[in-house]
Amino acid sequence: MSAQQSLKNRIPSELQIVASRLRDFLGEPRRGRKLPDPLELLIATVLSQNTNDLNSHKAFTNLKTRYPNFLSLAQVSPRKIEPLIKVGGIANKKSKTIVRLVRDVEAIFGKFDRRRLKKMERAKLIDDLCSLGGVGYKTAACVSLFALGDDDAFPVDTHVHRILNRIGIVREKTPDKTYLAVRDRIPRSRGYELHINLIRFGRRICTAQKPQCHECILFDVCRWKEKDVQHPGTPVQKNGKNADFMLLESV
Ligand code: SF4
Repeated sequence: MSAQQSLKNRIPSELQIVASRLRDFLGEPRRGRKLPDPLELLIATVLSQNTNDLNSHKAFTNLKTRYPNFLSLAQVSPRKIEPLIKVGGIANKKSKTIVRLVRDVEAIFGKFDRRRLKKMERAKLIDDLCSLGGVGYKTAACVSLFALGDDDAFPVDTHVHRILNRIGIVREKTPDKTYLAVRDRIPRSRGYELHINLIRFGRRICTAQKPQCHECILFDVCRWKEKDVQHPGTPVQKNGKNADFMLLESV
């Protein structure tokens, strides 16, 4: 068996261990009562680029107030929406991306409502979403996970990519490659839980610059070569209430 095959074979059981430890430590994240609309989520993702959560949320609200039905943006000139989203920066570029995105959605999907999208097979859905301008695996998987409520979907962002590679579950160079390596090996119905808990874990413990390895609940399973370097840090509360604001869940 090749090294690559043996790595693939152990991914599911290692992910089970990680998911269970994180759930013990951080709790089981609960979804909001209402799932975000798929198109609104796509547009929120564009608006979130190169800005903070507060300003992208203001831009989103301005746009939604003026155009309650985002499909109508297909008929709008990008110039008209620029002032509405200016607060989030690079409005010139984002306005064009949004209008093109909505036009592509109409051309490729026709109807873009949750009921119809949920009937699609996940791999086909992700491929079709990725054919939209500006949409990659992470955003496509976010639509499946957050807007369609698919608990087997698993978006990989920079936090998730960093942690899975540090632990040694995968050895990949980019988030997209990590996504492709693990997407079919996520513990059944635990994609939402694992995704959210890995992000929280990445912000509190396995941070990019100074991971708090000395108080990490994954220390014994982590194969990161530098893991025993001690960094003084502030105590981390189990189940801390200072929950992180997550744009995709708040749309
Ligand atoms: S031991 Fe360190 S590098 Fe490994 S998962 Fe924990 S915090 Fe991250």
